[in-house]
Amino acid sequence: MTEITVPRRGSAADPLPPTCVECGAPAGLIRREDLAWTPSWALACWLFGLLPGVLAVLATRRHVTIDLPVCDRHRERESGKPTAVWLALGIGLVAGIAGAALPSDPDGIGEVLFMGGVGLMILAGLAALILGGRGVRVAWISDHEVRLAGVSEEFAQAVVAGPAEVAPPMVFGLQTEKYMRGRI
Ligand SMILES: [Zn+2]
Repeated sequence: MTEITVPRRGSAADPLPPTCVECGAPAGLIRREDLAWTPSWALACWLFGLLPGVLAVLATRRHVTIDLPVCDRHRERESGKPTAVWLALGIGLVAGIAGAALPSDPDGIGEVLFMGGVGLMILAGLAALILGGRGVRVAWISDHEVRLAGVSEEFAQAVVAGPAEVAPPMVFGLQTEKYMRGRI
C-alpha cells in the first residue's frame, strides 16, 4: 500500500504528474474527486455526546478537490465494496431483527436467526474492512498537504521525482501541460 503526500493550495490539490494513480500507466485523463477527512480524535468526541461530536467534526473536517490522473481503464472509480458485502449485511440485519422480534418459541428458532444474523453482519463488516482498502483514499489533510493512500508505486515515484524526471512526450496532452504549467 503506497502513500504519497501532495501539496494543496486552498481547496484544490496541485496538479499531479500524468501517471495513473491506480496502475501507473501513462495517464491521459483526469478523475476529479472531492475528498473529505476528519481527524480520528474529532470522531472520538462522539463518545462525549451528540453536540461535542457535531462541533468537533464541523470544526476539523477538511475538504479538498483533487484531479487524479488516470488511464483509460481507471476513468471511473471502482467501488471498493462489492454488492455481495451489502447483500450479506442486509440479510444479516433482516435475520437479526426477525430473530429478535419473534416471540419466544420452544424450538429456539428466533435465537438461531438472531445469532446467525449478527454473525453474518460481523462477517460482512470484516469483509468491508479488508476490501475497503482498495483504491485511492485520503489518509489525512493538513492546511498545505494531502496524504493519499492506495496509489500506484509509479505514481508515487513520479510525484517524488518531479517534472524533470517524468518529462513525458507531449502526446499525453492536457494533463501533462497542466502539470508542467503548475510547476513553472
Ligand atoms: Zn490505470
